[in-house]
Amino acid sequence: NLKVGILGLPNVGKSTFFNVLTKSEAQAENFPFCTIDPNESRVAVADTRFDWLVNHYKPASKVPAFLNVTDIAGLVKGASEGQGLGNAFLSHVSACDALFHLCRAFDDDDVTHVEGDVDPVRDLEIISNELFAKDLQFIESPLDKVEKLVTRANDKTKKLEYDTLVRVKKCLDERKAVRLETWNEKEIEILNKYLFLTAKPIVYLVNLSEKDYIRKKNKWLPKIKAWIDQNDAGAVLIPLSGAFELKLLDMPEDERQKYLKENEVTSNLDKIVSTGYKALQLEYFFTAGEDEVKAWTIQVGTPAPKAAGRIHTDFEKGFIMAEVMKVADLIELGDEAKCKASGKYRQQGKTYIVQDGDVIFFKFNA
Ligand code: GDP
Repeated sequence: NLKVGILGLPNVGKSTFFNVLTKSEAQAENFPFCTIDPNESRVAVADTRFDWLVNHYKPASKVPAFLNVTDIAGLVKGASEGQGLGNAFLSHVSACDALFHLCRAFDDDDVTHVEGDVDPVRDLEIISNELFAKDLQFIESPLDKVEKLVTRANDKTKKLEYDTLVRVKKCLDERKAVRLETWNEKEIEILNKYLFLTAKPIVYLVNLSEKDYIRKKNKWLPKIKAWIDQNDAGAVLIPLSGAFELKLLDMPEDERQKYLKENEVTSNLDKIVSTGYKALQLEYFFTAGEDEVKAWTIQVGTPAPKAAGRIHTDFEKGFIMAEVMKVADLIELGDEAKCKASGKYRQQGKTYIVQDGDVIFFKFNA
């Protein structure tokens, strides 16, 4: 199961964010959610298309897509040299497939900052340095080993691995994250063996005071944006406010709606969850009927038989065809019969690549 880890210095609001994320999603719809361990949970991915399907089919059971989120506590400056709980924490980072990098842009004299004062750009830099330092340490021994095999033992089968690691090393020396370099499929296979920390996609979250969140202004935001553009071009930045989200959680539904309306503001949690989900290169298709409406998580680019295998291995083994509607067509036209009548209900074979939002009925040999 792929997961996103919440990364950041102590006291930036990681646990608070993790808790509001877990609680609000669980409360919102009473989705079946489970806690694997106290620092790990799965939260429903909000999706109006899913809501439409549920409303349309009125199924006995409904299962949305989930994002697995884990709270990585305690990364501090010098972790790569063993400071704090050092390497243990970096190994938790290593176990994640994407990261929410949370930084603190709220002032609060009651909440001490480990670095003395609030400066999210410096904090981003600290964490980023630790990730680079760790990757640089980590690459040394495999690079050395593969280099010996290629140059001394003349092992041609290791040539591509060697070239790839040399390029990784060059990236790291230039302080360019491994994820920002372009890699072909074979190289990616090699990278997948090594799990470099700077290869993981990052979604940047900025924890604001409630006041700044509501007025959509904070002096650090432009500076953070500039840092991201320079260090992680193309990455997404999403502001949030732990304090604001906590307050919302404590309000009864009608009061919450009133409060949001008065302040002309909405929670960013849904957006954060769906952005995290996309960062994992995941998407989902639906199965829909009166029994159940369910979102099935797959990797981008999954062929139909393999997608069928997510439901049941027999579906993959005996795959005959997939009958597919686009959820957008279904919503636009109103029901299955109308999709059929206008040629939007299609039969697809083994080579069909399932698309995000496909509504699929699989036919298979039992
Ligand atoms: P972590 O160490 O990064 O997990 O941070 P915590 O979530 O434990 O938060 C550290 C402290 O900051 C706690 O006392 C929280 O109540 C407080 N805190 C978290 N989010 C906010 C926020 O948005 N605004 C303010 N003022 N305090 C916050």
